[in-house]
Amino acid sequence: MVFSGLAEKLQETFKKLRGKGRLTEEDVDQALKEVRRALIGADVNFKVVKDFIARVRERAVGIDVLQSLTPAQQVIKIVHDELTSLMGGSRSKIELASAPPTVVMMVGLHGAGKTTTTAKLANHMRRQGRRPLLVACDIYRPAAIKQLQVLGGQLDIPVFNMGDGVAPPDIARAAVEKARREGNDLVIIDTAGRLHIDEELMAELQNIVEAVKPNEILLVVDAMTGQDAVNVAKTFNERLTLTGVVLTKLDGDTRGGAALSVKAVTGCPIKFVGVGEKLDALEDFHPNRMADRILG
Ligand code: GDP
Repeated sequence: MVFSGLAEKLQETFKKLRGKGRLTEEDVDQALKEVRRALIGADVNFKVVKDFIARVRERAVGIDVLQSLTPAQQVIKIVHDELTSLMGGSRSKIELASAPPTVVMMVGLHGAGKTTTTAKLANHMRRQGRRPLLVACDIYRPAAIKQLQVLGGQLDIPVFNMGDGVAPPDIARAAVEKARREGNDLVIIDTAGRLHIDEELMAELQNIVEAVKPNEILLVVDAMTGQDAVNVAKTFNERLTLTGVVLTKLDGDTRGGAALSVKAVTGCPIKFVGVGEKLDALEDFHPNRMADRILG
């Protein structure tokens, strides 16, 4: 499970700290050295770790003022607070449009889980009372249209497509018009991916943005790729101004560095996490709960 290595190391560090009645500055520094090593080991961005440790240290100096907690508990609380804030603080939700339909555009590289996540998100939002329409804008791989149709069929959620002969911005525009006519209050657009980021892809995605002015642009990235995922997020954000990130495959054996670095490096919050291949395996991302999980 994600973070198991990190959680184990941090819990070990804090167990040692708890054993001490009073904490000297050396005790705190020794603990922070171990926290630093554990975060680097979990593949968290180097600069993110450096800033994180500096913030914790600053707050941990002179902590003996709070009477209700032991010094060790206070250090742990500071680490918990800072981990939560590193991951975005509070939960970030989908911004619904004041005049429906809300348009959500999904972007990402091949294999990240974009098409699956598009369907999962429709399922997730339907449970909250939305009436989603899925849109197949990946016209370059015939299999991609088919894949979305199959997933939509499994969920009994409509999928709009115009085959592969119409330009994606036009498909997206037509889908939004259809949603407006037919009372679908949520449009989720699956776009083309590539193996690597290239100019042609970015230009096309920008054209779709121009055409439908999405309320949300969500980047789907694979947590297993660690810092690559963070770099992909940085590049997409520079070109498209993302509103959020969906981190997939958090059920796998990932060290979790991407979850801890994405917000700090890109400024974009993680909004959802994928935790399995099934269509109900998408969860809201709660920074606070994630920090609980890491600290045990
Ligand atoms: P796309 O190329 O980005 O559209 O990727 P797909 O949606 O086709 O997904 C690629 C593979 O990743 C598929 O086998 C999915 O079942 C799998 N996948 C997607 N999300 C998750 C997840 O959260 N956990 C796991 N374990 N697999 C996932």
